[in-house]
Amino acid sequence: MVVKEQLKTLKPYQPGKPIDMVKKEYNLTKVVKLASNENPFGCSQLVPKAMHDYFDQMAVYPDGYAAELRTELSNHLNVNEDQLIFGNGSDEVVQIICRSYLHKGTNTVMATPTFPQYRHNAVIEGAEIREIPLINGEHDLNNMLKAIDDHTKVVWVCNPNNPTGVYIKEEKLVEFIDQVPKHVLIVLDEAYYEYVTKDDYPNSIQLLNTYPNVMILRTFSKAYGLASLRIGYGISHPNIIKEMEPAREPFNTNALAQKAALVALSDQEFINYCRKENEKGLKQYYEFCEEYHLTYFPSQGNFILIDFNRDANELFEELLKRGYIVRSGKALGYPTSLRITVGKKEQNEEIINHLKEILDKKG
Ligand code: PMP
Repeated sequence: MVVKEQLKTLKPYQPGKPIDMVKKEYNLTKVVKLASNENPFGCSQLVPKAMHDYFDQMAVYPDGYAAELRTELSNHLNVNEDQLIFGNGSDEVVQIICRSYLHKGTNTVMATPTFPQYRHNAVIEGAEIREIPLINGEHDLNNMLKAIDDHTKVVWVCNPNNPTGVYIKEEKLVEFIDQVPKHVLIVLDEAYYEYVTKDDYPNSIQLLNTYPNVMILRTFSKAYGLASLRIGYGISHPNIIKEMEPAREPFNTNALAQKAALVALSDQEFINYCRKENEKGLKQYYEFCEEYHLTYFPSQGNFILIDFNRDANELFEELLKRGYIVRSGKALGYPTSLRITVGKKEQNEEIINHLKEILDKKG
């Protein structure tokens, strides 16, 4: 057997250490994980009951069309039902996009560093990857435009960008979209949309009316707190959705996830609370960075990338020993930075105090 040549160039996804493993390994009773941009407040209280009510229906396949969720979500977003595609996490929508449009002889344009699954899936499909370095944590849209040619099929815009948290303003984005040729699908990954507080962040749903080659990705994994259930979605022109649907597995989103997403959507109070708490949490980190003269990117996500000017893996280990799992920037293209998910107020305080202690000791 010979595996696809391009698979040999890829590594499987390396998940962070699970909490229980860290407890055992470092002999800790309490471990806080702020590594994968999950919601520290969990999910809406409405979710567990709705899921419980579903427990006697496990033997039945889920609705492959996610009809109930589709109706609610289309109302919530003010789009038509045929403008939505659901995925087993937005990860899977990325995969479906790549399966649908990319192959050998085509190319795809993205920033670097950015969310790695665009590259990963595009490589599997055999497409050429054109990566344009960020400028100050932000997409270099001018150079991304220059990289587009007749063979470009998909351009990825992560807004706000993971791992920097930097966002693209509406005006800049529209200027970019205006210049992208119509044969190119522009994917706006808005996984952190619900956390955004800036007024000049793009109203991307509105853009769909003008640009039939735009697809927006959103997810229930972040602010909605349903990462374990795996459900995300794409919003685009009905023609794009229709084209892509055959590349989607028939029962890709499970019934519990659909149920949970449906009730979670109805609890916008919870989302508003999380957004406000996240904004306060970011401020805690900003103040710490100012006090310690550390460089950071102001973030519109629920995470912050801080440059500590020292080996990120060592600092990561130091926090791990103390029971705090964060993300080392080493694998993210920022070898002296940590990406920390914004936690609850006390968690942020704790982690900041540990960081201060470590920095004071070594500083
Ligand atoms: N896009 C971005 C920018 C992300 O950070 C993530 C999760 N880390 C995803 C997509 C995928 O999220 P999910 O598959 O859980 O919806």
